[in-house]
Amino acid sequence: RTRVYRFGNKTADGSSKMKNLLGGKGANLAEMSVIGIPVPPGFTITTEVCTEYNELGKETTVNLIKEEIESAVENIEGTMGSVFGDQDNPLLLSVRSGARVSMPGMMDTVLNLGLNDKVVQGLASKTGNERFAWDSYRRFIQMYGGVVLGMKPESKDDIDPFEEIMEHLKRKREIELDTQFTVQDLKDLVYDFKDAVKKRTGKNFPTDPWEQLWGAIMAVFNSWNGDRAVYYRKMNGYPAEWGTAVNVQAMVYGNMGENSGTGVCFTRDAATGENVFNGEYLINAQGEDVVAGVRTPQQITKLGSQRWAELAKIEENDRAANYPSLEELMPTMYKELYKYQDILEKHYRDMQDMEFTIQDGKLWILQTRNGKRTGAAMVKIAMDLLKDGQIEEREALLRIDPNKLDELLHPVFDPKAIKRANIIAQGLPASPGAATGQIVFFAENTKKYKNTILTRIETSPEDLEGMNLAKGILTARGGMTSHAAVVARGMGKCCISGAGALKIDYKNRTLTVDGKEYHEGDWISLNGSTGNIIEGKVATCQPELSGEFAEVMKLADKYATMQVRTNADTPKDAQVARNFGAQGIGLARTEHMFFEVDRIKAMREMILADTVKGRKNALEELLPMQRADFEGIFEAMQDLPVTVRLLDPPLHEFVPHQLATQKELAEDMHISLAAVKGKVAELHEFNPMLGHRGCRLGNTYPEITEMQTRAIIEAALNLKEKGITAKPEIMVPLVGTYEEFVAQEKVIRETAQKVFEEYDDTIEFLVGTMIEIPRAALMANKIAEKAEFFSFGTNDLTQMTFGYSRDDAGKFLPIYLEKGILKVDPFEVLDQEGVGQLVKMATERGRSAKPQLKVGICGEHGGEPSSVEFCHTIGMNYVSCSPFRVPIARVAAAQAAI
Ligand code: ADP
Ligand code: MG
Ligand code: MG
Repeated sequence: RTRVYRFGNKTADGSSKMKNLLGGKGANLAEMSVIGIPVPPGFTITTEVCTEYNELGKETTVNLIKEEIESAVENIEGTMGSVFGDQDNPLLLSVRSGARVSMPGMMDTVLNLGLNDKVVQGLASKTGNERFAWDSYRRFIQMYGGVVLGMKPESKDDIDPFEEIMEHLKRKREIELDTQFTVQDLKDLVYDFKDAVKKRTGKNFPTDPWEQLWGAIMAVFNSWNGDRAVYYRKMNGYPAEWGTAVNVQAMVYGNMGENSGTGVCFTRDAATGENVFNGEYLINAQGEDVVAGVRTPQQITKLGSQRWAELAKIEENDRAANYPSLEELMPTMYKELYKYQDILEKHYRDMQDMEFTIQDGKLWILQTRNGKRTGAAMVKIAMDLLKDGQIEEREALLRIDPNKLDELLHPVFDPKAIKRANIIAQGLPASPGAATGQIVFFAENTKKYKNTILTRIETSPEDLEGMNLAKGILTARGGMTSHAAVVARGMGKCCISGAGALKIDYKNRTLTVDGKEYHEGDWISLNGSTGNIIEGKVATCQPELSGEFAEVMKLADKYATMQVRTNADTPKDAQVARNFGAQGIGLARTEHMFFEVDRIKAMREMILADTVKGRKNALEELLPMQRADFEGIFEAMQDLPVTVRLLDPPLHEFVPHQLATQKELAEDMHISLAAVKGKVAELHEFNPMLGHRGCRLGNTYPEITEMQTRAIIEAALNLKEKGITAKPEIMVPLVGTYEEFVAQEKVIRETAQKVFEEYDDTIEFLVGTMIEIPRAALMANKIAEKAEFFSFGTNDLTQMTFGYSRDDAGKFLPIYLEKGILKVDPFEVLDQEGVGQLVKMATERGRSAKPQLKVGICGEHGGEPSSVEFCHTIGMNYVSCSPFRVPIARVAAAQAAI
C-alpha cells in the first residue's frame, strides 16, 4: 500500500475526496495542485501511518516509510531546484499536521526545517539576504523547540521560554517589533535559543536535517494523542482511530523583505455571510504572524481596509499611507489572489478559508478549506449559493447544520463585548442565548431587580415563576435534562446547568468561584451557547431573522414528510412556536398551570382533602382556570391539533416544604399545622419518579381526570361557538398496562359525553397515550386496540430503560462520557441502539393493531437532529419539541427525507 502521496507541479497522487486518508489539508493541497493553483510541492504521509505508529512504535514505522519519504523529498528537490541539507543551495521544508476535520489550535507546525549553523550561511549567500536567513533560523529553533523538544511554558502563568528571551532583547535594545531586530540580534537570539534548549533538555539542538525531519514527523504523530487533541476529540466525538496525516512541503518565504508577505483570506464574510472577499496580511512576515498578532495586520481589499479604518477611527490619508490594503499596495498580487479565491470557491462550491504567501513577488497558496462560519452566515451563504445556481435545493438544505440555527433565534452577546469578557467558570450549555443580570438565589427575588440571573444549586417546579421572570438561569447541579435545563429550553431562556465549580451558599446568599465571592445583586452574564459564565455585564443584541432564514424554512417544508409540533404550555409559547412554523402542539403539560400563585392554593387544597367531596370542591375551583388555559392555547393553535397531557407529576411536588408556607396553608384551610405536615410526610416517596404519578393519579383519583377532561371539552365547545376550531387530543401519561389506559379512557369518554349533552353540541377529539414505560412499548399492539395515538415520552422511556434517574444522572454521566462508557448523553441524543428498539417495535406493533395509528415523539429528543432523523426513518407522523427548536427540527426532518 502507498503510505506517501505527492503533490505539486500541477499534479498529485491524491484528491479532495481522500480526506480520510490524507487529512483535510493534504487532500486539498493535492486537489489545488491538480487544478493548477500554485502550491509549493510536497507530500502527505497518510493517517493510516499514524495508526501504524501508535501500534508499532517509532522504529518500525520509520522503516515502513523511509524509502518512500526519501524519494518524495528527492522529488521536491527536483521541482524546486534545491537540495535538502545542502550548504550552498538548501531546500527547507515545513512539516504540518492535518486531520480529517480541522481541529483548531490542536496540533502544531514546524517551518524552515533543515537549517543549521552551516546551512543558514548558504541560505544567506544564495538569497543575498542575511537578515532573512537568520530570521528563518531563529523561527525554526523556536518552533522546533516548542513542538518537538517540548520547550513550552512550564506552568500556566509562565510565558513561552523563547518569547521571554526575545522580550528581554527587545527591552535591552529598546525596540518593539520583531522586524526591528538587526542581523546581529537574530544571531544572538539563535545562540540564546540553543543555549536554552541545552539547559532545559540536556541535549544539543539537532543539526542533522534528516534527524530534524524525523523528529518533526514523529512529533506530529504524537500530537494526535496530546492533551489538547484528546480533549477536542472527546468534545466532538471524533474517534482516536482517525489519526492525523503529516504534510511535508517546500518552504516559501514571506519574510524575504518588503516584496514578500503572508496572509489569510475568506471568499465571503464568515460572520455575516456577505459575499465580499476579505482577509488580512502582513508584509515581511511568516506563518502565524498574522493570526498571532505580532503586528497589526492590514486588510486585503481596499473596501475592507476602509471599513476597518472607520472602526479604528483612522483618517483616510493616514490609512492609505500607513495601512494600505494589498489591493492598493500590490495590485498584481491582489488580482492573482482574487482570481484564485474565485476559482476555489466555484470549485468547492462553498465559502473558502485560504492561506497564502508572497515570496518576492510570487504568490503561493498554502491551504484552502470550507470556512467555519456563524449560524447567520451559514444560512445566508447556502441561500446565496443556491440563487447563484452553484448548488441545488437539496444541497442547500444539507448545508444547514440544524443545531446552528439556534444561534439565530436567541439574543446574542455583542461580538465586540464578548472579546473582553472575563470568564469565571464553565457549565453545560443547557439553553442557548445570552443573558446579563444581577444574581439572585431565590425564585421570589427575581422581582427585586429588572434583570436577574436565577442562581441555584438546582431548580424545582416551585421556582417556575421566578425562572420565567429571570433573564437567565444558572445551576451548580443537574444535566442537560435537569429541570432547569428542560424548562429553560422550553421558555427559550438562556440557561447554564451543572456548573460544578460554583459554591452556592443559600444562607449567606453568596456564590463562590475559585475563592472569589459574589453576592446577591452582583452582575454576571451567561453565554448559554458555550456554557461560559462571565463576570459583570456584557452587552447583548437581538438577532435579526433574515429573509434567508424564512427561505430555508420554506425549503425545509418542501422536502420534509414528517410534521413538526411543539411542546407548549401557554398561549404565548404556542404563538411563538406557531410563528416558527409549528404544525400543532405535541405536548401541553397541564401541571405547569397549577404552579401559578393563585392556583397553587386550590391545587394544594385538592391534594390535602381527605374526602372525595373535599377533593371535588377544590377541583371545582380549578376547573374555570384550566378551561381558560385551554381556551387560550386552543385559540393560539386554532385549526391545528393540540395534545393535552393529563396531570403527570407526583403530588408531593405541589405541597409546600417550607415551614412558613405550610403555616400559611394551614391558616388558609383552617386546619392544624400538624395536619399539613402529616399530609406532606404521607406524600413523601422514596422514588417519586417511579411512584404515585402519571395515570396512577388519574386512576386513584378519577375526579382529577374528570375535571381536566371537562375543562378541555368545554374549552373546545366554547371556542366552537365563536367559530374557532379546536382539535384536542387527550393524552394519558405513564401507561404501563392496557387496563390502566382503558380505565382512564372510560372516564374521559364518559365525561366528554356528559359535557356534549350539557352543551347539546359535540367536537371531535382523540384519546391516546404516552409510551414512556418499557412495558407499554412491549404491549403496544394491545394498547393500540384502544388508543388512537401514541406519543413517545423519550425522557421517561430513556430513564426507565437505562434505569438512570434523570435527576441524579449528573453524578455519574460526566464520568461515563469521559471514560467512553457512554458515547453521548442518552437524555440529549436518543439512544437509537437500545431505547430506539423499543420505539421502533412499539410503533410497528401499534400499527399492526391499528394501521392508521398516529405516532409522534414529545421527549426532549424531538428537537435533536440525529434523533429527528431516526423518527423519520421509523415512520413517525410528527416530532414535537420546545418552541425554539421547531426550526431546527423542521430542517432536520427535511434532511432526513432527502
Ligand atoms: P494550521 O493547521 O494550524 O493552520 P498550518 O500547517 O496551516 O497550521 O501552518 C501554520 C502556518 O504556517 C500557516 O500560516 C501556513 O500558511 C504556514 N506555512 C505552512 N507551510 C508553509 C510553507 N511550506 N511555506 C510557508 N508557510 C507555510
Ligand atoms: Mg493553516
Ligand atoms: Mg413522562
